[in-house]
Amino acid sequence: MKIDEKLQPILDEVIRRNAGEVEFHQAVREVLESLGRVVAKHPSYADNALIERICEPERQIIFRVPWTDDRGQVRINRGFRVQFNSALGPYKGGIRFHPSVNAGIIKFLGFEQTFKNALTGMPIGGGKGGSDFNPRGCSDGEIMRFCQSFMTELHRHIGEYTDVPAGDIGVGGREIGYMFGQYKRLTNRYEAGVLTGKALFYGGSRARREATGYGATYFVQRMLETRGDGFAGKKVIVSGSGNVAIYTMEKVIQFGGVVVACSDSNGYVVDESGVDLDLVKEIKEVRRERISEYARLKGAGSHYIPGGCVWDTPADVAMPSATQNELTGKDARTLIKNGVIAVGEGANMPSTPDAVRLFQEAGVLFAPGKAANAGGVATSALEMQQNASRDSWTFEQTERRLARIMSDIHDQCAGTAEEYGAPGDYVLGANVAGFVRVAEAMNALGV
Ligand code: GLU
Repeated sequence: MKIDEKLQPILDEVIRRNAGEVEFHQAVREVLESLGRVVAKHPSYADNALIERICEPERQIIFRVPWTDDRGQVRINRGFRVQFNSALGPYKGGIRFHPSVNAGIIKFLGFEQTFKNALTGMPIGGGKGGSDFNPRGCSDGEIMRFCQSFMTELHRHIGEYTDVPAGDIGVGGREIGYMFGQYKRLTNRYEAGVLTGKALFYGGSRARREATGYGATYFVQRMLETRGDGFAGKKVIVSGSGNVAIYTMEKVIQFGGVVVACSDSNGYVVDESGVDLDLVKEIKEVRRERISEYARLKGAGSHYIPGGCVWDTPADVAMPSATQNELTGKDARTLIKNGVIAVGEGANMPSTPDAVRLFQEAGVLFAPGKAANAGGVATSALEMQQNASRDSWTFEQTERRLARIMSDIHDQCAGTAEEYGAPGDYVLGANVAGFVRVAEAMNALGV
């Protein structure tokens, strides 16, 4: 899509100011493409450099993370926290540990998070953090020392009313525990609401672990319902095999779908009779091994394709749940040729702009990550509510709230797309609805 001529200079300036940060440029471009219709209808939204301000993080923190490995060698990584926007509440967003992490990746994630969090309707601003630390192959002791060192710097920038991190790729319950322990040690405060994704016994929320995957599946189910359809009997590809992928598979199976393939960064497995989720959980959550183990342990009926492309598997629904730009234009063509009817992004920005365009042109229902994967952060906000009231809800109660929130986000995106003359365009609906909420708060709070 073309950018409105009034908005092009804003993108040019973002590119100039954030040279080389291609994922951030990509995320900003996509939002600005949608905003043309907003400024045409309500020119005041462009006043006081509001859009320029939304594209510039409020604060960016970059720090050294020294730690000692098991051989006694001192190692160095780089830590980041981008506090993107606090108009709607304290900065909120995950922490990613992955060798690909750099300033641009964290900035794009913080930008996306701002709109995603706004869509949830909860009082949370947007932020993101992480490190280029590679946890793969590290011992438990090394992970603990890294998390402690990371928090030794981060603790002075966060707080229940300031900035509330959570997990993301490479950061799960174990890492949150080590970071929370270090925060408590350094501050002498049992401030449960400073991090989310905690284990149940020290202030976590039921259904938080399941929330991103469950939420993405609820969203796609709602989208299918608009065409009188649903997951029942559908063949589904879920890329990845981490937290988001596992609980996407679980909910898809509960809705009667058949998960035919899942993957990791080394390859993918196909199991036409339906992926055995207990086995995936055993391999990934308990043994922390690679997905290639699946075919070895399962045997008959399944096979592992090293280095292959999971999107080559014929399916009705695709749920990209691994990482950014994992689904390209070429993959989109293959999926469309194989008859895909819906795509729901469990990861953040997993489809390239080309892929999104192809899906939309082909009439495939397409749910962008900032709407479809908002269930994780929404349930983090529910965890903050429980922490603030020293309460703990049941699984059913929490999941019911999650399902409701996802349905509301769906309706908001669909309704906004309709209102702005692009019915069925969930990308436009999500960008505009998220933007309007942040913009109104920023306007109310003054420059
Ligand atoms: N990392 C997740 C996301 O991308 C969750 C963030 C959170 O719970 O704060 O939305």
